[in-house]
Amino acid sequence: EQLLELNVELQAANKKLDQMARTDPLTGLFNRGHFSEVFGQEIARAGRTDLPFSVIICDVDHFKLVNDDFGHQTGDAILQQLSTILNGQFRSTDIVARFGGEEFVVLLPNTGRETTLHLAESLREVVAGNGFTDPSGKVVRAVTLSVGAASYPEDGLDPDSLLSHADQALYQAKSGGRNRVVAWVSTRQDPDEES
Ligand code: GH3
Ligand code: MG
Ligand code: MG
Repeated sequence: EQLLELNVELQAANKKLDQMARTDPLTGLFNRGHFSEVFGQEIARAGRTDLPFSVIICDVDHFKLVNDDFGHQTGDAILQQLSTILNGQFRSTDIVARFGGEEFVVLLPNTGRETTLHLAESLREVVAGNGFTDPSGKVVRAVTLSVGAASYPEDGLDPDSLLSHADQALYQAKSGGRNRVVAWVSTRQDPDEES
């Protein structure tokens, strides 16, 4: 009986460890490691089912200035508020993760380019219209996101090329003026594929 009890406790502890290993501590979102694992599974599944899926990368615009103007604690609070918005904007089947720093990624199963662009645009609008607050609850400022998107299979067949294309689209969004969504266009010249 004692062994049984220990076993139950061990199982609960393992479950908690497993959850911690997949979670970003600041935001409670999935971390990059878990995102990569799911990305690999999703590629395999999409290959079997012939269904599309998409990935977006979101980067906070001029976030360094937010820290400079309001301090790191307010920066952290804003990242937490952004995470809440991200969780609210996407479906429970989508995987929202903190990719690192002030970058977030979302994996959208069974979702093609058009729908992804609509969802990303709606996210962008909600974020741009939100009043972000400091830890005391005082509204400090508006924050905007730049977003790059890529879809399987037309923009890449493996995680590396899809992420790299989404990242290049994000770069276009930045250089185009920020606070915008850009989809990778496969006819665009791709430095990866030059010989
Ligand atoms: P851009 O529009 O080009 O993305 O400008 P940026 O300032 O957002 O980009 P940059 O890469 O220069 O700076 C990112 C900033 O994000 C700097 C770093 O201090 C801040 N940052 C990254 N992670 C965290 C975090 O966990 N908490 C806080 N408060 N700030 C963070
Ligand atoms: Mg960044
Ligand atoms: Mg940034």
